[in-house]
Amino acid sequence: MKFVDEYRDPQAAAKFTQKISEITTRPWTIMEICGGQTHAIVKNGIDLLLPKEITLLHGPGCPVCVTAVELIDKAIAIALQDEVIFCSFGDMLRVPGSREDLLSARARGADIRTVYSPLDAVKLAENNPERKVVFFAIGFETTAPGNAAAVYQAKQQGLSNFFLLVAQVLVPPAIEAILSAPDCAIQGFLAAGHVCTIMGYTEYEKLSAKYGIPMVVTGFEPLDILQGIYMTIAQLEQGRVTVENQYSRGVSREGNREARRVMNEVFETVPRKWRGLGEIDGSGLGLKADYRPYDAEIKFKLSDLSVEESSECISGLILQGRKKPYQCPAFGANCSPEHPLGATMVSSEGACAAYYNYRGRKDGKSDVLGEK
Ligand code: SF4
Repeated sequence: MKFVDEYRDPQAAAKFTQKISEITTRPWTIMEICGGQTHAIVKNGIDLLLPKEITLLHGPGCPVCVTAVELIDKAIAIALQDEVIFCSFGDMLRVPGSREDLLSARARGADIRTVYSPLDAVKLAENNPERKVVFFAIGFETTAPGNAAAVYQAKQQGLSNFFLLVAQVLVPPAIEAILSAPDCAIQGFLAAGHVCTIMGYTEYEKLSAKYGIPMVVTGFEPLDILQGIYMTIAQLEQGRVTVENQYSRGVSREGNREARRVMNEVFETVPRKWRGLGEIDGSGLGLKADYRPYDAEIKFKLSDLSVEESSECISGLILQGRKKPYQCPAFGANCSPEHPLGATMVSSEGACAAYYNYRGRKDGKSDVLGEK
């Protein structure tokens, strides 16, 4: 398939791994932030092709995985109300809350619908004026413009029965939280190409300079990732610290100004609690004062809910790159995609699901779990 196969060419991949081997003289630890990149790495065995000196850590770049348990519980509480049509992307339905997930709430009678766009939810609100339609707005900077546009459109249409349950998160504050940990071992970052498509990478330049860490904006296909790793290792070996752009076919330094304009019209930065990471200042988006009438947390008066996360699940350590999924005692034993204990086993971008699906299960059927 043109424009895809050319980024999956095995011979070109072999050349890149050879080039990486040639320039690597000592151990280096690199984190890829994005869950899509994690899946591409594990699925294609990219980590296993690299020299043993290079360690890849998987970061918190899966929006489903980092949505706090409280928000899942709030989503369920809202969805169970008689007059509500609750709309969500499919991935969120199986993410465990503190007692159940949205799928079980649907089995108990909640009107929960899977949609493909927030504008589908706006349409539902338009067609069902007697119902309250709530859209679960999860995601990083990539989904924020679409979610902002949906609220903006609802306001333009004068709809008073459309609401957002906002779980939007921002990548740079999470990177900073990881880098500022005293025992942080990360020496280079692959920044997520799709996030930078919207935001550009000037914020990453500040972080790179502040922490002395090379960063490379990287795409999602195997050759993108190998090239991103090569560019990061080249900076580390040469003692350079800057932000470089591997994904120039999609990303400019300034990003997409129109998308950011819509985001800034509707959203402002707020503190946000991340599953497994806790609250990070300025790491979330919330509705600005003019759009608060569309805020489901305010409408349904659920702002004070607080719950503890399961002690059995170590997804917080996995999302910080401190543990690999196969180091979790529950991995493949009592946690699997069919019976997930944590969000990282549910999402199509979750690290636990990636290892489970592509590296064999810890049940004796495969011993290829990721150690080089
Ligand atoms: S394997 Fe399951 S229990 Fe363990 S960290 Fe992953 S999601 Fe949590």
